[in-house]
Amino acid sequence: MKKYLISACLIGENVRYDGKNCLQQQLKQLIETGQAVTICPEVSVGLSTPRPPAEIGGGDGFDVLNHQAKVMDAQGNDVTQAFISGAEKTLKLAQKHQITHVILKANSPSCGSNMIYDGTFTGQKIQGVGVTTALLEQHGFQVITEDAFLKQLENK
Ligand code: SF4
Repeated sequence: MKKYLISACLIGENVRYDGKNCLQQQLKQLIETGQAVTICPEVSVGLSTPRPPAEIGGGDGFDVLNHQAKVMDAQGNDVTQAFISGAEKTLKLAQKHQITHVILKANSPSCGSNMIYDGTFTGQKIQGVGVTTALLEQHGFQVITEDAFLKQLENK
């Protein structure tokens, strides 16, 4: 049986740094029908909403886990440890629920699985994954974006 893990902002929870969400109704339905669990890695470890935006500088989520890159917020605070803790909490949830499919919000420094912002806070993106995605992938989970999932649905 399929069991999904979905970013909390995608099911309508106001957990984004700007206090908003990115609701995708089809993903919310997976929660409502008991097929999915949800988490916001950042809020799960106590980061506030709203909060300053954060980006990975000098690499991607894998580099953060290898201590070769940091996550900084727009005010210059080093939030690396909070992001790693959020990733660990998300991994534990995925393992506990024996998740088979992971759908995380595109472009996020935690949840991104294809592109992320480049650390300059100028809107530029680079190829790479967020910290939570990196940890999940290290433990055998495949992570896709909401757009990739919705495209799969259309093609069925
Ligand atoms: Fe939280 Fe991930 Fe959504 Fe960011 S993208 S608000 S970390 S669930």
